[in-house]
Amino acid sequence: MEKQQFKAESQRLLDLMIHSIYTHQEIFLREILSNASDAIDKLAYTALTDDKVAVDRDGFAITIARDPDSRTLTVSDNGIGMDKAELEENLGTIAKSGSLGFKQAMEKNEDVDIIGQFGVGFYSAFMVSSKVEVVSKKYGQDQAWRWTSDGSDGYSIEPAQRDGVGTDVIMTLKEDTEDEKYSRFLEEYELRELVRKYSDYLRHPIRMEVTKSRKKADSPEDKPEYEDYTEMETLNTMVPLWQRNKKDVTQEEYDSFYREKFYDYNKPLRVIHSSAEGAVSFKALLYIPSKAPFDFYTKDYKRGLQLYSSGVMIMENCEELLPEHFRFVRGVVDSQDLSLNISREMLQHNRQLTIIARNLEKKIKSELTDLLEKDREKYEEFYAVFGRQLKYGTVSDYGAHKDACQDLLLFYSQKQGKLVTLKEYVSAMPEGQEKIYYAPGENKDRLSKLPQVETLAAKGYDTLLFTEDVDEFVPQTLMTYQEKSFCNVSTEDLGLKTEEEKKEAEAKAQEWKGFLTFVKESLGDQVKEVRLSDDLGSHPAAMVPDAGMSFEMEKYMRRVNPEFAYPVGRILELNPAHPAVEAMRLAMTEDPVKAKDYAQLLCCQAQLMAELPLEDPAAYTALVCKLLF
Ligand code: ADP
Repeated sequence: MEKQQFKAESQRLLDLMIHSIYTHQEIFLREILSNASDAIDKLAYTALTDDKVAVDRDGFAITIARDPDSRTLTVSDNGIGMDKAELEENLGTIAKSGSLGFKQAMEKNEDVDIIGQFGVGFYSAFMVSSKVEVVSKKYGQDQAWRWTSDGSDGYSIEPAQRDGVGTDVIMTLKEDTEDEKYSRFLEEYELRELVRKYSDYLRHPIRMEVTKSRKKADSPEDKPEYEDYTEMETLNTMVPLWQRNKKDVTQEEYDSFYREKFYDYNKPLRVIHSSAEGAVSFKALLYIPSKAPFDFYTKDYKRGLQLYSSGVMIMENCEELLPEHFRFVRGVVDSQDLSLNISREMLQHNRQLTIIARNLEKKIKSELTDLLEKDREKYEEFYAVFGRQLKYGTVSDYGAHKDACQDLLLFYSQKQGKLVTLKEYVSAMPEGQEKIYYAPGENKDRLSKLPQVETLAAKGYDTLLFTEDVDEFVPQTLMTYQEKSFCNVSTEDLGLKTEEEKKEAEAKAQEWKGFLTFVKESLGDQVKEVRLSDDLGSHPAAMVPDAGMSFEMEKYMRRVNPEFAYPVGRILELNPAHPAVEAMRLAMTEDPVKAKDYAQLLCCQAQLMAELPLEDPAAYTALVCKLLF
């Protein structure tokens, strides 16, 4: 028999596929099953449009057969079949219908892993097989044909025998190696899992002989004996949940689908089942999990939705469908508008996907808003797990996604003692309040006792307490919310003084200049500056950072990026109305040594209030004792 050579391009592509490293070899089965299903569709369609064609529609099926002895895996269908010319045409030239993405990748010499992701149909069988035979009989013909190839050395075609029309794809699996156990594709369990994972919703039954166990008929009740037997079983469920009508699906069905599909023991927090008609029609079944996967906040976590095209899974994790800020959402999207060509091409710049993604983003946002407004308790449950992600979303890409995220954020309100949205904060602002005040720090209780926060509280102004690393980046990115600017109470002027009060303060600073210089000199390099402040309420002193960076940011940098961390300038603010400060001022002339001690004492206390560690705690303790006795 004469060997035919693959076309040049096919040969290059084959070499590429066979000799590259595949992370998704298992997709070959999906490809072969999809082809089988398509072939059945074609025959069913022919029967619909041609009266002369009579087929038993109920008999349509795909069969998987495994033979460990000959190391073969066979996928058979009773679809339309191929004649000799079609075998040549379809299998002799690589992926006729869908090689575009491939060609592009080859030209650009890109990472060939896309093969694993998108598949190239029939040829993927060579990723796992040393030989592939296709025995096919075309509908309406008597002669069957056998196409044989080892993938590298061309192919041959010869006449063959086959009962009935349809196609058998007989794959002789490669020998196992250290790294690759190809024989796993002969195991019942593995095949069952692969069908479930990739082809569960193919419209035709996928059947396989499976081994089961039963009680022997004649064995006694109290000592039952069991025997194995085999039975044909349909491995796929055929009807996708998302294709069903919303009102016909129970919560249990949604939940158990979620758990099985996404391997999560917990019930989802919210289900979004939506369908859209229009420029691109699609169905989506999305879930908001109730718990974050353990690797959620790491680089290992892969965002994305499963993408189906007419019931066939074409991608497990389609990132393009889900924006980063909503990466916690899991689910599936099915669109017949993506059918056939999309599955075999690159998806990256696909316009239809962009439309679907935009639609889903809106949908997710409105669901979360709905939850926020109607079931606050549940929303807070969600927020405790994924709120950090929404904050990242708000600040990432210089705030490009703030519209999707900012109204979903919650911060702790000092005044109300609970989480509030920015909208709620602003609408509760009393007349005269111009800014959105926030205080960054580690601990809510300590923050609410900050002098500046107490001062604001005395005026009836609320302060948002920022206790998470990322919080402080939110005002820096948003700049304003509903035209109100943000004010960091520990670094910025609270803006409470009138012009007149400002003038008074300046005069006072002038008057106290000598004293302030004395304190600065006493403290040396410990502080950058000493100044007066009227914002300290009942406190004598406060340590505030020099403009630009906050102490929290300094600590954060020291933790995350110590190389680039540098200390923020410390400014000691003194409250001229406080008796302790007055006492220090008096002591300056009467007992300068004591005044120096007072200065050191207040400086240390201000450090502690600002949650800054003391350089020398022992010296501080000694100083307190010295002043006591
Ligand atoms: P694609 O499915 O993208 O067209 P494939 O390489 O998977 O590319 O298959 C090439 C062609 O071979 C198919 O379009 C189809 O015409 C034919 N083919 C493959 N498998 C079968 C089958 N089981 N029955 C009938 N035709 C098939």
